Amino acid sequence: MQIHCPTCGPDADRAAYGRRSGYDLSRCNSCGLVFLESIEKPIAEEFFRDAAGGSDASEAPDAIEYWSFPALYDRYQTVFEGFFSERWNRLRAAHQDIRSLLDIGCGYGFFLRHVQADVAAAEGIEIDGTAAAYARQRFGLAISIKPIERYTTPEPLDCLVMCDVLEHLREPDVVLRRCRDMLAPGGILFL
Ligand SMILES: [Zn+2]
Repeated sequence: MQIHCPTCGPDADRAAYGRRSGYDLSRCNSCGLVFLESIEKPIAEEFFRDAAGGSDASEAPDAIEYWSFPALYDRYQTVFEGFFSERWNRLRAAHQDIRSLLDIGCGYGFFLRHVQADVAAAEGIEIDGTAAAYARQRFGLAISIKPIERYTTPEPLDCLVMCDVLEHLREPDVVLRRCRDMLAPGGILFL
């Protein structure tokens, strides 16, 4: 299935942009966004192997070292916390009274853990059951295991956080509209 520019829609012209890591890319002639030409090709197995196990240099010397995994969090916790402090300061500068926050694609819950003492209702959603279970058990976080398209909130939210998620979505425009509908007046979405 060919992908159209998620910003400009199916009517925008595109041009071939080249090939990276075995994937053909297109570039939108209207807005300049570069995106996958199609999604027919299955995702490389190495991605899931690396993502599930973190990096094991002896098994996969060229494995990509993904960042937000427990082993790396434990090893570089001060780096993580510094990064999260900067994010949290930006959020509070944009909204002075964040009482409810939803971390969409919260992974193992590291950012939620950072803010949970400051936010009355801090929750996450995550489609990876292993990561969600980890976040619940280690940090006592409230995590729903479902995609954003199926999440409903009883109250509008002050803050949505969605980091390293948008570029993985099949229909990012649909998800952004869903986010807008979940926000309280004056609420903020952090990407
Ligand atoms: Zn475009």
